[in-house]
Amino acid sequence: MITDECINCDVCEPECPNDAIYMGVAIYEIDPRKCTECVGHFDEPQCVQVCPVACIPTNPEHVETRETLWQKFERLAAEKAASAPKAAPAADAPAP
Ligand code: SF4
Ligand code: SF4
Repeated sequence: MITDECINCDVCEPECPNDAIYMGVAIYEIDPRKCTECVGHFDEPQCVQVCPVACIPTNPEHVETRETLWQKFERLAAEKAASAPKAAPAADAPAP
């Protein structure tokens, strides 16, 4: 979670591999449905690493096990693959 100490410096948003960080009403917020604490991508939470004011503690209302976070990573990856546009067949591909 992001506390109200956030200074809206914009540094964390592009670092999130899950697009879980977004600008809220007043400060940046994290969508807990998308945050895997970077499990599946990095060893450490990237937003926590880059935040200059250390205002991203673990959300006590969303304490999740590593197994749960991994399952979330797999679900997100499957959703991303399903929504990715299919590659168009090459123009000189043989007719089926
Ligand atoms: S911990 Fe990782 S996945 Fe979660 S919001 Fe931060 S950068 Fe995104
Ligand atoms: S890096 Fe920290 S201070 Fe900067 S926008 Fe993100 S949460 Fe706010």
